[in-house]
Amino acid sequence: MSSHTQSLDPIKIAVTGAAGNISYSLLWRIAAGEVFGPQQPVQLQLLEIEKAQQAARGVEMELLDSAFPLLANVQVTTDPREAFDDVSAAFLVGAQPRTKGMERADLLTANAAIFSEQGAALNEVARRDVRVVVVGNPANTNALIASANAPDIDPRQFTALMRLDHNRTVSQLSSKLQLPVTDFAQIAVWGNHSASQFPDISYATAGDKKVSELVDAQWVEDYLIPTVAKRGAEIIEVRGSSSAASAAAASIDHMRDWVHGVEDAQQWRTAGVYSDGSYGIEEGLFVGFPTRAVAGRWEIVPDLELSPAQQARIQASVDELKAEREMVADLLK
Ligand code: NDP
Repeated sequence: MSSHTQSLDPIKIAVTGAAGNISYSLLWRIAAGEVFGPQQPVQLQLLEIEKAQQAARGVEMELLDSAFPLLANVQVTTDPREAFDDVSAAFLVGAQPRTKGMERADLLTANAAIFSEQGAALNEVARRDVRVVVVGNPANTNALIASANAPDIDPRQFTALMRLDHNRTVSQLSSKLQLPVTDFAQIAVWGNHSASQFPDISYATAGDKKVSELVDAQWVEDYLIPTVAKRGAEIIEVRGSSSAASAAAASIDHMRDWVHGVEDAQQWRTAGVYSDGSYGIEEGLFVGFPTRAVAGRWEIVPDLELSPAQQARIQASVDELKAEREMVADLLK
């Protein structure tokens, strides 16, 4: 028996920092069809800095050796205009790491230079409906800079990865309550992808129960929130290197949900999206919100009631984002 399906044209996908740890997991899952679907061929356009070009070529060789049926082509380049040419999606993973003695402001400025150049290149050559997820830290402010430098692309096409924080919250609840991760809904992480983030279970459900009735408020305050916020550092301490595979898994989840949508209205996701002023959060910042993936767009969940305690936590994280924006103000056109 033979089946005859019309084969689709490949779509172009850019990944930056392609020789790094996160990409070493991420690229294989994109090429296997886990984001864009089992029928959709992809062309991978990999950006790396000059000194990592050889390593990126090694990654290219291994991708080709994997003989993925959906992998139409791989290109490696140092030029953002080549990497972003005609892309439908971009995973901006590469970023300047914090080195010893580096001040936060120096890190922000070094990354601001990278992400303003990449935003300008996306503006020039990417598809207008390109979906961009910034993984490289400080992800929210890097997304702001890239978007500000891409005035011809809707800022809602730019996002910062907050899904790992979301997944970590679900996982902690799952261990605590000994319930499968799939039982949980209406979870969100507000704010910045940093220690100031606010994993919020106020609305969360586990099956037909409210999570807030199953765990005590002190555990949430003293254990859940700090554990999720500091999980990256804990992984480095325990594993001896950073949480690259779970960051890649979260990037896959983020882009897959964005592209395909999530039907169940209770199944919120967390994405760092352009603030439209919802919940009094200043318009234009890129902030972790409770969102739904609907028909190819992220929608902020509307009309939630916020207690003064929730508002204070959200405000603290948003204030940090405003301070980051101040430090890179001259790169925002
Ligand atoms: P990783 O692939 O481990 O991480 C890349 C970025 O993702 C870092 O900014 C890192 O932040 C961030 N990140 C976000 N969430 C996580 C998480 N949960 N765990 C770990 N990292 C997370 O870094 P590598 O150093 O292995 O690779 C980076 C690559 O990027 C290098 O090959 C380098 O050459 C390239 N690069 C490319 C640039 C460009 O394309 N213009 C510019 C600079 C570098 P954090 O630092 O906070 O851990």
